[in-house]
Amino acid sequence: MQASGKFKDIRQEAYEANMQLPQLGLVLFTFGNASAADHKRKVFAIKPSGIAYADLTPNKMVIVDFDGNTVEGKLRPSSDTRTHAVLYKHWSNIGGIVHTHSIYATAWAQAQRPIPIFGTTHADHNTVDIPCAPPMEDSMIQGDYEYQTGFQIINCLERLNLSYEEVEMILVGNHAPFTWGKTAKKAVYNSAVLESVAQMAMLTERINPDAPRLKDSLIRKHFERKHGPDSYYGQN
Ligand SMILES: [Zn+2]
Repeated sequence: MQASGKFKDIRQEAYEANMQLPQLGLVLFTFGNASAADHKRKVFAIKPSGIAYADLTPNKMVIVDFDGNTVEGKLRPSSDTRTHAVLYKHWSNIGGIVHTHSIYATAWAQAQRPIPIFGTTHADHNTVDIPCAPPMEDSMIQGDYEYQTGFQIINCLERLNLSYEEVEMILVGNHAPFTWGKTAKKAVYNSAVLESVAQMAMLTERINPDAPRLKDSLIRKHFERKHGPDSYYGQN
């Protein structure tokens, strides 16, 4: 299915990202949402609320501005739209965001624990534990909840002195993961990587509750061979 109209590129990108979520086993029913942004126009395309993945089309994606107002589209946007809007407004270098309730990552969020860096799969993508933002304060929950969730994410990274361009995933305590990236496709990839790392970490602790964290030399080696100036992973 092909998108049309003024915002066709982000409609198509958001549609394809959303459709990947059930295919990768990251969502159940209508849980989860992906969006794709156009920073020049300060808008993003996001999944409509409560529509089954099988019924989605590119033109059903809702176009929303960075304050969360609908710009184009008849359907109501995802209930998490204002979280996406806050992140796009504050982080100018991300082009896509994904939110799921994938089982293992969500289990760590519910346990309110960052995911320890136990192995090289984790180190290929992040040099630190996957952060877990604290559960939201009552005042944030009773106020504009989805909007405040965005700030909960931004504030957690700032407190840990982490850059959103280096760490592209987070858990929100008692809730679930959010991931992002330069494109919606990369945000989906990060969601799948996070789920896999979360599952491996849980099994690691089950096999050995005292499993040590990965040592620094291996963390650096694995991250740099994929991301450093002298990276040699893949064909580029
Ligand atoms: Zn959620």
